[in-house]
Amino acid sequence: METSQYTIKKTRTKNSKIDQVDWDNIPFGKLFSDHMLIMDYKDGKWQEPEIVPFENLSLHPATSAIHYGQSIFEGMKAYRTVDGEPVVFRPEKNAQRFRKSAHRMCMADIPEDLFIYCLEELLKFDDEWVPKKDTNSMYIRPFMFATDGYTGIKPSDTYRFMIFTCPVGSYYTEAINLKIEENYTRAAYGGVGAAKAAGNYAASLYPAKLAQDEGFHQLIWTDAQTHEYVEEAGTMNILFVIDGKLVTPKESDTILAGITKRSVIEVAQDWGMTVEERKISVKEIIESIEDGSLTEAFGAGTAATIAPVKMIGYKGKKYELPGEEKRTFSKKVVEELDGMKYGKIEDRFGWVKK
Ligand code: PMP
Repeated sequence: METSQYTIKKTRTKNSKIDQVDWDNIPFGKLFSDHMLIMDYKDGKWQEPEIVPFENLSLHPATSAIHYGQSIFEGMKAYRTVDGEPVVFRPEKNAQRFRKSAHRMCMADIPEDLFIYCLEELLKFDDEWVPKKDTNSMYIRPFMFATDGYTGIKPSDTYRFMIFTCPVGSYYTEAINLKIEENYTRAAYGGVGAAKAAGNYAASLYPAKLAQDEGFHQLIWTDAQTHEYVEEAGTMNILFVIDGKLVTPKESDTILAGITKRSVIEVAQDWGMTVEERKISVKEIIESIEDGSLTEAFGAGTAATIAPVKMIGYKGKKYELPGEEKRTFSKKVVEELDGMKYGKIEDRFGWVKK
């Protein structure tokens, strides 16, 4: 599809909130930029996108996304480089993943160039909302949901694609405690775990809450059949440094193909580090913590970039991981990725898009 065939109608708000923002104290996910993008799918094609002031939606009570869950989203960020220029990190990867999610959920296909075009137009329009401080960024939420007002169960004929953005402060995370889940499941073979489908997140809340009640920050999800193999950590991918090698579960239809994780892997390979993407058993993790060969464990995702792990709980026991001084790889890799995003080091992979 040619994006040049589209003209975006843009309506600027008369009540910009930008002057009221306290840029030094931005609450995560509660502050929204002035505008949002809306594009509807009907009669078998995407209609003209529109940029409008950020406001509530009005929905038919039978909107099928609400009842039957055809709803997908993406999460990405824009950064302002040290030269003052707003950039996004590997946006084509989000566009590709969004398309895969739509396919799995039987939703309208959105070509990658159309996704990117909408994104660019909104970011240009709300350019001033990309924070200037180099620890801050702008979270971008593209999403699509089924809009048929119909109570029968079938793939919707109509959809709405939207993007809104939220300036966010630095996502400083202390090292986290994770519990290995032995009962509940995030994703099963043949299921929708590899899609960024809204319901995956709903399903994860209750088991995560149980772990949080026990004092853990998040769960390490294990495979649905045996609970013997690790898959993800909360809403992040999980990686380990064992015997100096970077080890992470191999992507499958139970694991979301994370862009941060892929970038960590590609940087590690570029540094000459051995990377293994394979099945990793809980037994191997516990044994390698005990014999000292596991030096680092961390979650990887857009929100935090890297979240180091300080303790893993399993079958009522707590396994402490090596301290901060051992986290040489994860510290170096986060400096590298953030360095590229904020334009502090050369973008030798061509990942940063203006
Ligand atoms: N796994 C899950 C389940 C997630 O929701 C996310 C966040 N999108 C990730 C992994 C990390 O993906 P990314 O690095 O693309 O943010």
